[in-house]
Amino acid sequence: MGGGIHGVAVARDAALRGLYVLLAEAGDLASGTSSRTSKLVHGGIRYLENGQFSLVRESLRERAILLETAPRFVRPIPFLIPHYRGSGRSPFIVEVGIRLYATLARGGSAAARPLREHHHLTPDEAIAREPGLDPKDLLGASTYWDAQMEDARLCVAIATDAARAGADIRTYTRVTKLSNVDGTWRARLRDQIEESVSEATARVVVNAAGPWADEVRGMAAEPGPLPPAVRTTRGTHVVVPARGLRQAHLLSARRDGRVFFAVPWGEHALLGTTDVDDATAPERIAPPAEDIRYLLEETRHALPELVEGVRPVRAFAGLRSLLRGKGVVPWANPREHRILADGTLITLVGGKYTTHRSLAERVTDLVAERLEKRAGPCRTATTPVAPDRERSVEELRSTRRERFTAQPGLSVGEADVAFAVREEKARRLEDVLLRRTRLWLDARAIRAAAEPVARWMTAELEWSESRRQEEIRRVVEPLEDEERRIEEAMR
Ligand SMILES: Cc1cc2nc3c(=O)[nH]c(=O)nc-3n(C[C@H](O)[C@H](O)[C@H](O)COP(=O)(O)OP(=O)(O)OC[C@H]3O[C@@H](n4cnc5c(N)ncnc54)[C@H](O)[C@@H]3O)c2cc1C
Repeated sequence: MGGGIHGVAVARDAALRGLYVLLAEAGDLASGTSSRTSKLVHGGIRYLENGQFSLVRESLRERAILLETAPRFVRPIPFLIPHYRGSGRSPFIVEVGIRLYATLARGGSAAARPLREHHHLTPDEAIAREPGLDPKDLLGASTYWDAQMEDARLCVAIATDAARAGADIRTYTRVTKLSNVDGTWRARLRDQIEESVSEATARVVVNAAGPWADEVRGMAAEPGPLPPAVRTTRGTHVVVPARGLRQAHLLSARRDGRVFFAVPWGEHALLGTTDVDDATAPERIAPPAEDIRYLLEETRHALPELVEGVRPVRAFAGLRSLLRGKGVVPWANPREHRILADGTLITLVGGKYTTHRSLAERVTDLVAERLEKRAGPCRTATTPVAPDRERSVEELRSTRRERFTAQPGLSVGEADVAFAVREEKARRLEDVLLRRTRLWLDARAIRAAAEPVARWMTAELEWSESRRQEEIRRVVEPLEDEERRIEEAMR
């Protein structure tokens, strides 16, 4: 259950090992937390502060695997940490952390080896690297490497591979009832678009519902309720025009010492994230004006030119589902995952995108054990992700030639849309606009592309005129709400 990164990773691993898999996702693939991240495959340098060494080591190992197996979706990116007098962490402590980070990254694939490089920069060298840095009180900077990812597109590619390996992947299919009769799970599935209902049976259920995981455990609890396992915290991001930003930055917020990122994405830059306890129902999570203000104000201290007088072109929020921990403040809550096994109901709690593969491997081992079935060995550490994708899209281009460019670097082709519908389970307009292209970066690009993409999807899916209009409305209305929130933050 759940077509976020964890659900699809388990589906792919299990299908590659020869297990029979049905994955039900209530919305689109990656429509939950898995498209609202900082889009980094990272060891998590800041977790060193909390002594989470094994998590960092595992994350760095997984970073190396993803750079090797999914280079189309994950690429190295250099980071800069500016040091300012009287604020943030001491440069000495940061340097020690970076050295430790590089040491923990030892070994790994050839693709990951250059990522161990790190330097200390004088103020002049730092400004030469990033002319937009505020020179006032700048003591210097440290550099290190991590990786940037297309989160939703990676999730979709893994789901597509799972389907190729034999998994039955059903999107817009909500599990509305789950009961166990004589050792067999029975699930009622509701297709959210067709409004049809069907049933499925399974011997083992994997609950990969992220922030909905407690709700699913509640659904399955017979006879008594299972205790809540999840702490949900809200993370907001904003996108602003890049204004020549050259580097990715790890910045410290002056008001609370939290770290956050400013990362270039072509002509845009992604700023985030926040970390605030939030018990809102996951489907209603949205970025409040105060989060947007926080990110703009805190970025201004180091990169004033990036945000001065700027109106964000996107703002979105996601919910972390953290293992309920002892950390008082959300950002000190452990990021480690936990696998909860209630008989043949296996629930994933916590975890990071970066470690989805290794978590899926452990879960699939456990599924095989519960099935008392010999499954094949795990192959995901060496199997490339969607190796033939580009060739398949290229083939479609011979007959699907139209292309729409919304802005420099933000375009979509008729062939991309055909591939998304035929192979990548796109069923709604928003699936293509928000999670299968880079258009998510700018609300203006999403709006501009809505008409041509709806036209191409209509041809693929034979939509009626009223359905086409409904699809456009479903894209535009949330953007209007988002724009109102941005407007409120700018007042
Ligand atoms: C703000 C933020 C930034 C982050 N940044 C990073 C980062 O840069 N790098 C990193 O490694 N990690 C990052 N993370 C963590 C990472 O995003 C999450 O660990 C990961 O996306 C969680 O995926 P998931 O599959 O568990 O949950 P989700 O992606 O939320 O998926 C759960 C799915 O279950 C479905 N579902 C729920 N109920 C049902 C039902 N009844 N029937 C069927 N389906 C159902 C939902 O529709 C949903 O799609 C970030 C998290 C947040 C919140």
